[in-house]
Amino acid sequence: MHITMVKKRLENGKACEKCMQAEELLKAKGLWKEVHEVLWAIEGEPESPGMALAESRGITLAPFFVVRDDTGEERVYQSVLKFIKECLTPSATQAALIEPLPAAKEAQRDVTSEAGISQIERTISGLSAQKVVDWALELFGADCAIAFSGAEDVILIDWAKKSGRPFSVFCLDTGRLHPETYEFLDRVRSHYGIEIELMSPDPGQLQPFVKKRGLFSFYEDGHHECCAIRKVEPLGRALRNCRAWITGQRRDQSPTRSEVPLVQADSEHFGKSGPPLKLNPLVDWSLSDVWRYLIDHEVPYNQLHDRGFASIGCAPCTRPVRPSEHERAGRWWWEDATRRECGLHVGPPER
Ligand code: SF4
Repeated sequence: MHITMVKKRLENGKACEKCMQAEELLKAKGLWKEVHEVLWAIEGEPESPGMALAESRGITLAPFFVVRDDTGEERVYQSVLKFIKECLTPSATQAALIEPLPAAKEAQRDVTSEAGISQIERTISGLSAQKVVDWALELFGADCAIAFSGAEDVILIDWAKKSGRPFSVFCLDTGRLHPETYEFLDRVRSHYGIEIELMSPDPGQLQPFVKKRGLFSFYEDGHHECCAIRKVEPLGRALRNCRAWITGQRRDQSPTRSEVPLVQADSEHFGKSGPPLKLNPLVDWSLSDVWRYLIDHEVPYNQLHDRGFASIGCAPCTRPVRPSEHERAGRWWWEDATRRECGLHVGPPER
């Protein structure tokens, strides 16, 4: 068997983040030696070996793996996890993906497999949302991060703090948040006496983007490019130190979230030991449930809510909503409702 990995080099000379993460995962699992050859696909250079291979196989995204077996038959993988599972030796894969864990923590095993996720789902599906948070923190401690930005996320922090267990909190500081949001972040930090890691965009990506496209390109051709740099890439960096993360997503927030599962393997990201476990304990909560909790438990909230803002993101992309409007109608209001996601929670639900 001969394995070729194609990695992408960007116009600014840097290696693509996802390619680096794939390489890191293979190295962390002791599988890097299985890759026989690495070819670079250099942005803007169609004749570079990786670009030529991508063109010949009809591939548009990196990294990808071309696996040729002894009979000459070829398979192409764009998912490093699928590549590991299907191509590398079963014993090596098993050892790499399943860490030895104490018996009491059986459910923590192999979050990359459907069987592993089903086992976890069975374990936690009957628990209250607060108990799900407690379960995750008992297993993962500070390797479990709460992604903090909105009202729902403070409920998660409230529960985490009350659990008395270690946990982490990060927030994506896009550089375009409202002053009120920064004040809110700091109020939550001091109210709970916790550290909040602010993840800023990579200047190597942001500066060329702003120089070329300006500060408001999203009004003309959509928000995804800006969100990719200001939110998605920093999220990937934040999750590299995690084994699990918890979000405040609710199914009734938007059409794009109607099938969010309680638990999933986050195959879009690489954590400390492979794809992190992603937990969405508030999937069944409504907006009224959230506000009832915030008020009953005197949990801090963003003062913009008192001025008609419902779902709050970056300042130029958020506006107040009228009482008759849906809570996410004020986000990227100039775009179709089915496209109003920033890319943080991408792809079809895993289950
Ligand atoms: S929400 Fe708007 S300003 Fe913020 S990252 Fe996305 S496009 Fe950029």
